Amino acid sequence: MKEFRQGLRGTLGPLLPPAPGRSDRFDSMKLFDVGGLVRAAVQDLCSEHLVPQTALDQYWPWARVRAEQEEQRLFDLMRRLTPQDYRRARFLLGRHAAGPVRELSRQWDRLWMRFDFFESVADWPWCQVDGWWYPCPICRWPMRAVRSGALFDVRCEAHAPRGVHYRYRLGKGSGPGELTGTGKAAVPVTPLPASSDHLAVSRPVWRYGTLPVLLELHLHDKLAGLPFVDVEMWPGEQRPDEYDLHITVTVPGRRTRHWRVDAKAWESVVALGKALHDRPGLRRGLTIVLPDHQDSERHFLGDQVAHRGVKVTTVSRLVECVKTACGALR
Ligand SMILES: [Zn+2]
Repeated sequence: MKEFRQGLRGTLGPLLPPAPGRSDRFDSMKLFDVGGLVRAAVQDLCSEHLVPQTALDQYWPWARVRAEQEEQRLFDLMRRLTPQDYRRARFLLGRHAAGPVRELSRQWDRLWMRFDFFESVADWPWCQVDGWWYPCPICRWPMRAVRSGALFDVRCEAHAPRGVHYRYRLGKGSGPGELTGTGKAAVPVTPLPASSDHLAVSRPVWRYGTLPVLLELHLHDKLAGLPFVDVEMWPGEQRPDEYDLHITVTVPGRRTRHWRVDAKAWESVVALGKALHDRPGLRRGLTIVLPDHQDSERHFLGDQVAHRGVKVTTVSRLVECVKTACGALR
């Protein structure tokens, strides 16, 4: 299965049954683009040959189908871990999502062999400039490099709204060129060689595993140490993905307040709303937390999930709410 999955990233020829003397256009066809997304041409292929149009309508867009499958695969794997390993894996997804393989295997330690979500940065041309790649200073995942005239724009797709963007100027010799910060969070980062011994979690795992964990760690840091506030990270042991953070505020003489929080870092709040609308097992009373830059979209998502008894807010708004509840804002 692993070989088959890897084979899907190349041309289809080697995966097809041998047909001597006949080669058709499927042989040289690639299913995925360099970003790991299903190519638009595959839709044409399906509509012409393989899949009835109704199925296409139902499952379009393809990127979301694949993303949801990968997200599910990640959760299935996480669910089988012991509670201790589960918490460790969540932390590692946030803090060690990319880097030199030697460093990653040391950090992931006994969980390393159980996670086959890592891919070689050498296979991702979209993040390479002159054979180098730059980790985002917030998520450590490779930043995207796009040529812009004689220069390159280098930015983290998730954290550019927070000011993680740079400009890259080609170097004179064989070493890396010059990277200049152009955003307020663009601290200096060290270039790493785009070689096969540098790995990063796959894009869906970064999007649905790493990014929410970073939001949760950020929330935890903001709330830790407040009076009367208790924050439990990744507490669910029966159903680990039900909620990620349990915040309790116990002020003497007042009713105890709870927030059961699930952080979400989807690029598209519309797609997230569609996915959550029908998702079974969504807990009543859950609070979904979005990154601050999606503040203007929180009402839209709130309307989508209100009938499930679920609320939507952002990191900063939740921090403010908790501070008010515990009296830290007065
Ligand atoms: Zn980032």
